[in-house]
Amino acid sequence: PPGLYIVATPIGNLGDLSPRAAEVLAAADVIAVEDSRVTAGLLRHIGTKRPMTPYHDHNAAEVRPRLIERMASEVVALVSDAGTPLISDPGYKLVREARAAGRHVVTVPGACAAVAALTLAGLPTDRFLFLGFLPPKEQARAEAIREVAAVRATLVLYESGPRLGACLAALAQMLGEREAAVCREITKKFEEAVTGTLGELATRYAEAPPKGEIVVVVAPPAPPAPASADDADAALTEALTRLP
Ligand code: SAM
Repeated sequence: PPGLYIVATPIGNLGDLSPRAAEVLAAADVIAVEDSRVTAGLLRHIGTKRPMTPYHDHNAAEVRPRLIERMASEVVALVSDAGTPLISDPGYKLVREARAAGRHVVTVPGACAAVAALTLAGLPTDRFLFLGFLPPKEQARAEAIREVAAVRATLVLYESGPRLGACLAALAQMLGEREAAVCREITKKFEEAVTGTLGELATRYAEAPPKGEIVVVVAPPAPPAPASADDADAALTEALTRLP
């Protein structure tokens, strides 16, 4: 049926494109894309050619009404260059406005680097906070880290190779010696997850910025030290004195 289809694409390994994603893309009347060369490659992989229209931060406001109009009677797919649209990628305003206009909105989920990294890192996954890309400037980055320092959740963030060392150093300085993992080139030939404390990882990557795409995963802060037996005794004694 006509509407807006949010289609996740692979983050490296083309085998991760789901059969359903391929089906929707092949049936799309138009695909809103970040970079038409990247999406053309994916369409070639599934043996199809579909009309594409660029949709990125710089033209989105202008293109959106036209796409929303088309969704009334056509299949409009949204993809990003890799992974899940809307996750550190454009799209949420398109979804919001499509919904407001009463269009049918459907998700075709798939690869997402943040979630894939969580599955590799071996750190707690019961609560996590996705930070996207931290600000590149030192002061703004420090402020962004300070804001989340007390949050009892695993942190997940995207970073580029050249900035990784400085980012890890800032994390180590502000969060202390937490366990962390640098997950790189996920689903690609040189996939790896390097684990260690933030300090160890900062040292490792200070001099040699790694190549490729990176997700950093940081363990939550240590739970508060359990009260000692003496503390418990004192509390109990004190409580007893207040019993009638
Ligand atoms: N929407 C995408 C998703 O679902 O993951 C993320 C888009 S964001 C603009 C691109 C960033 O995601 C990269 O800079 C990198 O931090 C991370 N990333 C994407 N693919 C990756 C991969 N194969 N391995 C590690 N990180 C990846």
